[in-house]
Amino acid sequence: MIWYPYEQMKTMKPPYEIVDAAGVYLYTKEEDRMIDSISSWWSVIHGYKHPVLTKAVKDQADVFSHVMMGGLTHPAVRKLSDKLASWLPGDLDYCFFSDSGSVAVEVALKMAMQFNVNRKDPRKTVLSLTHAYHGDTFKTMEVGDDEDYHFAFESKRGVIHIPTEIPALEEAFEKHHRELNCFIVEPLLQGAGGMRMYGLDFLKRARQLCDQYDVLLIFDEVATGFGRTGYRFVADEVLPDILVLGKALTGGYIGHAVTVAGEKVYRGFYGDDPSLALMHGPTFMGNALACSVALASIELFEGQDYMAKIHRITEIMRRELADFSSPKVKEVRIMGGCVCLEVRDRKDLLGYQEFAAKRGVFARPFLNCLYAMPPYVIAEDELVEVISAMKAWFE
Ligand SMILES: *Cc1c(COP(=O)(O)O)cnc(C)c1O
Repeated sequence: MIWYPYEQMKTMKPPYEIVDAAGVYLYTKEEDRMIDSISSWWSVIHGYKHPVLTKAVKDQADVFSHVMMGGLTHPAVRKLSDKLASWLPGDLDYCFFSDSGSVAVEVALKMAMQFNVNRKDPRKTVLSLTHAYHGDTFKTMEVGDDEDYHFAFESKRGVIHIPTEIPALEEAFEKHHRELNCFIVEPLLQGAGGMRMYGLDFLKRARQLCDQYDVLLIFDEVATGFGRTGYRFVADEVLPDILVLGKALTGGYIGHAVTVAGEKVYRGFYGDDPSLALMHGPTFMGNALACSVALASIELFEGQDYMAKIHRITEIMRRELADFSSPKVKEVRIMGGCVCLEVRDRKDLLGYQEFAAKRGVFARPFLNCLYAMPPYVIAEDELVEVISAMKAWFE
């Protein structure tokens, strides 16, 4: 018996069984297919069954699928970390791999905490955003802020939440800078907290304040990385001290994530004293299949000018929604490869999944959000179909 995520098992509708998948399509039967408008939780950026990615997995599987990283290393993880070090901005060069985004965020927070312990300045408070989502493990729930996910666990010691407004940011630093360890954000786009979008000016000010008060800045780009906001990484615009990538890292092929530290953070652990070392090591970190497919995914992203594909997606979304309005819709938000229609009453989204499926689109609204984050390889007519389904729902 499968226990499904985020579901009341007694009342949940049976999920769609997928028997095949190719490009942007999920197949429930040989001929019955739906466009995946949300890229399997925002990860399948190149579409399904991409020949280059599938080949990368197969080729590596012919050599070996996994060896542990304790005492061992291998070409796939070395090539991927070299690639990330040269491809990511600034001095974000030190790659710590893990098996999921939540764990990679845990690692980032642990790094920040121990960085300060190592320099004998054990500040403990984490600053984060209201409506933040950073994963489902305990510390990520603490720094997160969404009662819909975490209402059953009330533990908020050592975390301060602020809205994405510069005055609130300045006030938090002024009041709490002596105890602040780090500031963690989903930059520009808060995903699971409700597809909330905000500006670069907030992040630029955050960078200044973190420098001024010697507080580490962590970007959780598990969702926003690899072009989703219209920037390759938001870290290209404002450089964090620690960057977390996940979801699209492997093109959605295998769960894997990475916590990338800059020079300053890495140096905080480096020395002759073993007690300064980072004590963490997921069993499947640096998995060879995951690293091989991640490298192939990055090469595709670079080689086929994915940023141009993403800008075209933004234009089509804007064009298709330019004249749209509905009394039920509070706001239409578009950024990069993401569109969200926020409804006033979340009950107005009940039944949308079935409605869209009948029109050949797979969608999964949550909170007040009817949204799409399609694979970047989506064709214009397919994207128009996705948005037409969204508009038709309100007619
Ligand atoms: C999905 C997500 C995570 C958690 O990643 P998992 O791989 O599901 O553990 C963390 N942070 C953000 C911003 C996410 O969107």
